[in-house]
Amino acid sequence: MPKPPLPPPDPRLAVLRGGTPPKRHNARTIAALTTNPGCVRRAVLDTAGIDKDALARHLGFPAPFGQSSFAITRGNSFEAQVKADGCAELLTLLRDTLDLDLTEVAYTDLESVGDNTSEDVRNVYSEQQLAHAAGQGGGTLFDHPLLRLIVAGQSVYLEPDLVAFQHDGVFHIVEIKSFAVIDGQADPGKVAAAAIQSAVYVHALRHLLGRPEAVADEVVLVCPKDFSNRPVATKVDVRKQLIVLNHQLTRLENVDSLLNELPSGLSLGLDPDADGRPTRPVKELTATLDEMHARYAPDCLGHCELGFYCREEAAGYTDALGTAVREQLGGVDTVAEALALADGSWTGADHQAEVAAALRTTARVWTETRATGSGAA
Ligand code: SF4
Repeated sequence: MPKPPLPPPDPRLAVLRGGTPPKRHNARTIAALTTNPGCVRRAVLDTAGIDKDALARHLGFPAPFGQSSFAITRGNSFEAQVKADGCAELLTLLRDTLDLDLTEVAYTDLESVGDNTSEDVRNVYSEQQLAHAAGQGGGTLFDHPLLRLIVAGQSVYLEPDLVAFQHDGVFHIVEIKSFAVIDGQADPGKVAAAAIQSAVYVHALRHLLGRPEAVADEVVLVCPKDFSNRPVATKVDVRKQLIVLNHQLTRLENVDSLLNELPSGLSLGLDPDADGRPTRPVKELTATLDEMHARYAPDCLGHCELGFYCREEAAGYTDALGTAVREQLGGVDTVAEALALADGSWTGADHQAEVAAALRTTARVWTETRATGSGAA
């Protein structure tokens, strides 16, 4: 069935990009949307499809993102190993993890359609195969299906490593990662990143099938076990990640309310010269960014290309010290204010009285502890 045409994008978004085409999202960038949902600056930039990496470099704050070539090679070779021979090794693993019926052995490779590897063709074919399995049954493992999702008015293609289908009518997203599970434990940061990325695929597949219950809330993470290349599968519940993701995608759809808050005619275009080098004065760009309220937190450094720029901008503000400090020091915006309240050189406003008392107590305890410690030494 032909896909319905997308509504025309808001012309203000093209002005914001300086007329360049929008940067396309992928599973990683969509997953990153959930890490700082309160940041208006990022919501505007992502809705417009601004190339945040190019912007950060031109501002003088490049972000060292991306996997090392060693990690990519290791990841590809582990995935090839567990998918060898029509996913024979993986199927054995999933039989235990998902209680797959022993008679279910079908495997469908969706990485190309004949010799055709075009995204549009692959996406249509993947959708046909998955919808057929959902309606009629049949098929156990679908390798590299290409899903489609609309993000901020743009069509985005997403490619989970594998989709497993059970004959009781439920699909499972399977993600293959090369970080190790040692004695049943994996790096929590890497598991969290894999969970949110898998939640993006769950969301896209539910969108395709039109039935949320057809795709499991639990995804299957396949990683190397201990210090070997032997794969181990673990179920991960992604319900929380799906809630945040839904909220943020809905927010990006609401382009009007984001753009109505901004002065008209703002542009973050880099005006490249004939060699592609940006010519736009940095001062103009920073003035434009100042119009978009940022909510910097230390996590930004790992999730947003503008992290180093926003950290510099937030220096001296209590927000830059992290969410816990921001919550404890509600109403005290700067580190200088917090220090003045703590040493009693400033009494602060009425609404800061409670925080001021807590800061003075902390400062007194800290001073006494240090004095006791020095005395004992
Ligand atoms: S780095 Fe800046 S723009 Fe990105 S999420 Fe953090 S505060 Fe927002």
